[in-house]
Amino acid sequence: MIQPSHSEVEVVMLQSPAHQNSFLDAALLEARERYAAKRPKSAALHREAVKVLPGGNTRTVLAYAPFPTAMARGAGSRLWDVDGNIYLDLCGEYTAGLLGHSDSRIRAALHDALARGLSLAAVGEAEQRFARLLCSRFPSIDMIRFTNSGTEANLIALSVAQVVTGRSRIIAFRGGYHGSLLYYPATGFNPINAPFPVTLCDYNDIDGTVGAIRSEAGEIAAVIVEPMLGSGGCIAADPFFLTAVADATRAAGAILIFDEVMTSRMSAGGLQERLGISPDMTTLGKYIGGGMSFGAFGGRHDIMEIFVSSVPHAGTFNNNVMSMAAGIAAMEEVFTATAATDLFALGEGLREQLNAICDKAGAPLQFCGLGSLATAHFRRGRIDRPYAITPREEALKELFFFDMLDAGVYIARRGMTALSLPTTQRDVVQFTTAVGDFLDARAPLLR
Ligand code: PLP
Repeated sequence: MIQPSHSEVEVVMLQSPAHQNSFLDAALLEARERYAAKRPKSAALHREAVKVLPGGNTRTVLAYAPFPTAMARGAGSRLWDVDGNIYLDLCGEYTAGLLGHSDSRIRAALHDALARGLSLAAVGEAEQRFARLLCSRFPSIDMIRFTNSGTEANLIALSVAQVVTGRSRIIAFRGGYHGSLLYYPATGFNPINAPFPVTLCDYNDIDGTVGAIRSEAGEIAAVIVEPMLGSGGCIAADPFFLTAVADATRAAGAILIFDEVMTSRMSAGGLQERLGISPDMTTLGKYIGGGMSFGAFGGRHDIMEIFVSSVPHAGTFNNNVMSMAAGIAAMEEVFTATAATDLFALGEGLREQLNAICDKAGAPLQFCGLGSLATAHFRRGRIDRPYAITPREEALKELFFFDMLDAGVYIARRGMTALSLPTTQRDVVQFTTAVGDFLDARAPLLR
């Protein structure tokens, strides 16, 4: 972490917005240079990658300037990059890494599955055991089917809603992310979205959303909502908002889909259990497959029954033996109800501490979220929904990211953190100390 070295004159100058911005630019430039100097092997890999992978990657969220850090291995809550730098992993594979790296129970399940053969082209015992486990944990899920990703699960859940209701329009929320083909950014649009006719509403806006559902009642097949916006900034839903959306959706004869791909970690039965709100359908993904590719959609018996006769749902790898085996171990042995409760509490405590440090420093920084998920926002005041980030906020976010990496803490470039089960109190202290150091070192830029 660099130390502040500003004279009194500089500090006075820094308080004018123009100077602040030029000092911020200079600090960012210096942080990027320091980042690059410590990662020559990552830089070299990137130079080769761009020749065959557009942008040098096959997953846009991992791309950032000047080049992304390439990781070599992980164990527990730690990551090692290809240049030998060690990190506390608070990116947590964008929430799919909930179980940490190399859990022995998951590894044993995978080895066992490998030994029995990979592609059996048949139904087996594992998928129904896994299905039973998930149905018993999520009371709103009577029946479930598996996919290979959360994106696929959401695409199919929405299509199911269209078939069941005989309608086509969906309601989604600005800032909602339901997969690479179902992304509704707060500003702009995703040019490769699947062509569902969609009405976008503002998150946590009860009147606007209920009004939209009522006015288009006869046309709406589904309302799809994350019970906490994940990628959109870890912005929690007001329970009154979700209840009002649920009531209006049912009154309109439409299907309420909770996308719990990220939020299912909030308790053994997901955020829906914690909130006491039951959707008609739920989509799952990420860690539930034990770190293997995974997605699932499930819900009311009468909805899911369409797959018994009238609707086909194929997918070569839907019941692949690795995801089934790792998923069963994850749900049965690793992410137990107690583990879910403990991780939630650890995250709540961490966020409280972080926000107390920010408040004490008087910094325009806060950590939004719930339980083990949080996102840094460089603004004060209550945040109910995603917003158009200012260039200054974006620059501070980038600086924060580089300073965290420099302090040995790997977070998502967008400022998101996701705790994993191996995270300890010592890890929490490492992160809160790094944030405290950032606030001290960058104080003049944060005024
Ligand atoms: N839904 C939510 C809420 C997500 O956060 C994500 C991924 O980040 C998805 C769906 C898509 O899942 P996948 O990346 O497995 O397609």
